[in-house]
Amino acid sequence: MAKVVILGGGLTGLITAELLKEYSPVVIEKTDRVGGMAKTFKKGPFFFEYGGHYLHFQEDSSFEFFKKFSGELLERRRNSFVLIEDKFVKYPVQIFFPEAFPLYKEQILEHQKNKKIDKTNYLTYLKSSFGEILFEKFFYPYNKKFWKTDLETIDPKWSERYIPQTDENKINNPPEEIGYNKIFYYPKNGIQQIADNLAKDKEIHLNTTVKKIDVKQKIVITNNGTFSYDTLVSTIPLEKLVRISDLGLYNMEYLSILILNMGIRGEINKDFSWLYLPDESTPFFRVGKYILPDSEGIFGLYFEFSHKGEYPKVENLFLEARRLMKTIGIKGKALYALVLNLKYAYPIMRIKDKAYTEMLLDQLSNYSIFPAGRMGRWKYLTMEDSYFEAIRIKKIVDLFFK
Ligand SMILES: Cc1cc2nc3c(=O)[nH]c(=O)nc-3n(C[C@H](O)[C@H](O)[C@H](O)COP(=O)(O)OP(=O)(O)OC[C@H]3O[C@@H](n4cnc5c(N)ncnc54)[C@H](O)[C@@H]3O)c2cc1C
Repeated sequence: MAKVVILGGGLTGLITAELLKEYSPVVIEKTDRVGGMAKTFKKGPFFFEYGGHYLHFQEDSSFEFFKKFSGELLERRRNSFVLIEDKFVKYPVQIFFPEAFPLYKEQILEHQKNKKIDKTNYLTYLKSSFGEILFEKFFYPYNKKFWKTDLETIDPKWSERYIPQTDENKINNPPEEIGYNKIFYYPKNGIQQIADNLAKDKEIHLNTTVKKIDVKQKIVITNNGTFSYDTLVSTIPLEKLVRISDLGLYNMEYLSILILNMGIRGEINKDFSWLYLPDESTPFFRVGKYILPDSEGIFGLYFEFSHKGEYPKVENLFLEARRLMKTIGIKGKALYALVLNLKYAYPIMRIKDKAYTEMLLDQLSNYSIFPAGRMGRWKYLTMEDSYFEAIRIKKIVDLFFK
């Protein structure tokens, strides 16, 4: 039987292992537990994560799959806002901003009547889709703060799915629900539950870091021995894979995220799922309230700060978090805190990298190496996409070996 080795025990690696069960794949994971970005860190009654990790679905098949491995699922309706000039503007702003700031409504509608979308780059895309006012009040400051990258160098293609367009009708008659995550789900025992359930009955080597790949001999070299393969599925960051396979040294850019988690006993004036923060007065681009614990008077918050390797002193960020809590009407005492830094969090989809990435994927497939997943394939993907990625990989492996 074909030997399948999977690099990375995050959701993409584990779901691929599940779908390829008949090949008895081996999963290699560098950390001491499975889950990758979708891990839960329990502290007392709090469920801390790499920011809120919520499931949302485009298809019934993926919903059924995740249901099977999640245990009981809690269902929630998104209740999110954008903080502009200390006002809670309902998300998405391209629909609700004119309601909050009626002075600008006419100008925004005028833009919508005449807009011609320019997809040259992410900056032209945002400006032409939403017009000067929304661009200046939200899209530019927020994206600049988040990406920390010249927006003209970013390919806008990925954003079409995440940033809904608007029009005159939607602004005049705001729909109740809009966007890919209007309803979301969360396992009652934390997002970690999915990875833990998927990991049962699988051969997983934890604390095992891939150091080198000999693409000609088809051997993976780790700190815990070597593994030979016929097919290699890689969910580790693509730029790392290329380096350790001696296939190139191209500099691909990515964004890291520092997450300040706080477990609070206190009270919130205005409830929210998460708040986008375009304003320069706070260094965070988003603050969210975890849906667990769901009990009176205690709640978990996460404050997200994006960076490219350097960030302010954590003590200063905690002071900023406190200041923000005051602005948004949250009072209370922190019972627990946990700082998490996720090095590979978001691939930056630069226009100039597109051709290179495609070439790379081709080159790797010639060596029977198939990258998959968010940093693995260098694509802005969700947890549901991990399932679609696994289906794609299964088709490839079956094609070779059945
Ligand atoms: C801040 C943030 C919030 C998010 N929120 C949501 C959300 O609400 N909803 C949603 O659907 N998606 C969300 N996502 C996206 C989601 O987390 C990912 O799409 C998904 O978890 C990616 O899974 P993966 O297996 O592809 O990658 P990963 O989870 O990154 O798994 C890769 C694995 O490879 C391992 N690895 C790396 N290098 C090596 C090596 N050399 N040797 C061995 N192992 C190695 C890593 O330890 C890791 O376990 C969010 C992402 C971020 C960053």
